[in-house]
Amino acid sequence: MSYISEVKAAVAARNPNQSEFMQTVDEVLTTIAPVVENDPIYRKNSILERITEPDRQIMFRVAWTDDNGNMQVNRGYRVQFNNAIGPYKGGLRLHPSVNLSIIKFLGFEQIFKNSLTGLPIGGGKGGSDFDPKGKSEREIREFCFSFMTELARHIGADVDVPAGDIGVGGREIGYMYGQYKRIKNVYEGVLTGKGLTYGGSLTRTEATGYGLVYIVDNMLDANGKSFKGKTVAISGSGNVAIYAAQKAQALGAKVVTMSDSNGWVFDPNGIDLAVVRDIKEVKRGRIKEYAERVKGAEYHDSGKVWQVKCDIALPCATQNELDANDAKTLVKNKVLAVGEGANMPSTTEAIEVFQSAGVLFMPAKAANAGGVAVSALEMSQNSQRLSWTFEEVDARLKNIMKGIFDKTASAAKQYSNEKDYVAGANIAGFLKVAQAMIAQGV
Ligand code: NDP
Repeated sequence: MSYISEVKAAVAARNPNQSEFMQTVDEVLTTIAPVVENDPIYRKNSILERITEPDRQIMFRVAWTDDNGNMQVNRGYRVQFNNAIGPYKGGLRLHPSVNLSIIKFLGFEQIFKNSLTGLPIGGGKGGSDFDPKGKSEREIREFCFSFMTELARHIGADVDVPAGDIGVGGREIGYMYGQYKRIKNVYEGVLTGKGLTYGGSLTRTEATGYGLVYIVDNMLDANGKSFKGKTVAISGSGNVAIYAAQKAQALGAKVVTMSDSNGWVFDPNGIDLAVVRDIKEVKRGRIKEYAERVKGAEYHDSGKVWQVKCDIALPCATQNELDANDAKTLVKNKVLAVGEGANMPSTTEAIEVFQSAGVLFMPAKAANAGGVAVSALEMSQNSQRLSWTFEEVDARLKNIMKGIFDKTASAAKQYSNEKDYVAGANIAGFLKVAQAMIAQGV
């Protein structure tokens, strides 16, 4: 039995009922085979057994009172996966679907993504099955305070630095930061995505979406193409989706779709982002309102944005939102390129459909690394007690995304085939972490 098959079987046996975690372990281990099976050093050091087992998995009770005075209980998580190359770093997700498998899949992906950025950050992830939708301001604040009351004892600026993810934006980070400061009595960069008045970095809000478009642009450019004049389908209408749409439009593309968990809109004239931002960022409403406000736009509460004909598809909502049938529809409609803004939005089968049809495919680990990269720049600014300008951070982000593209493309060329960016990203991310783990012996 190959080393990889042995480890996959052992990880599956040890983590029953963790389908999302197994999905990413399967993908990563399969694609790094050309490296791992050809050098005995990895088996000798049990690198795969070590890298698939988190350093620490913390689960805790989060109790809070709702507006009716009733006590509610949620479960909080922080998985500190790997700190071989830097303090644990990764977002916090607040969504009713959150469970240990989802947090572990996100934390595992984060190890390789953070390595690819070239910055000194390890991998971690956390969150809760709390549903922020429909909660009052007071309920959100109380939940965040209660969540941080436990989390505070496990994190620190040089230990573990959480950030936002689904359901966690500037408001939630603010409340969590306030509570951390109150408990620890220290003013340090323990969270990223902070407000600009208390240590946040310019460009952090835009970073994941902009970074996604920068790296897809690098990929298009390497293949003699560009965003100019292209039709783009985007799913989601949250942080990543909004700023991906903004940058794609700035590069001359027409974005025609956006969605949320209730449905999706198609605007043949090109999405009016000012309206989307007002609905989502100001009113915290539903995407359905877009079609009520913009003439010519359609709202659908069934089907998916992937049925719309487009040149470039950017899934920016959640995991496994694009399956093999969606991929076949996109291929039939002659999609040219796909870039994953969300984490693991395409199923394994969908990726196979894209790759075998020759569609340019940039996986999440590379494509959405811009957010964590600017988070690491926020950490640097906090340590130095400095604030860089928007232009300075944006220029660094652009350079980092180019660096990720180059590393990904060159590992793809060396170990697989030149367009296999999935293998390229996994291998390039893995090599650095594995070397550090071997050197440190833990
Ligand atoms: P937001 O909470 O800002 O937005 C999420 C969007 O996706 C919303 O439109 C939401 O709709 C939709 N969505 C969430 N869950 C589902 C679901 N189960 N089915 C359908 N739609 C859903 O999150 P972000 O934009 O921050 O995150 C989006 C993705 O990007 C996630 O996969 C996240 O892990 C990833 N990511 C985010 C980074 C960041 O910096 N924020 C960095 C790297 C990756 P609704 O409002 O109805 O819930």
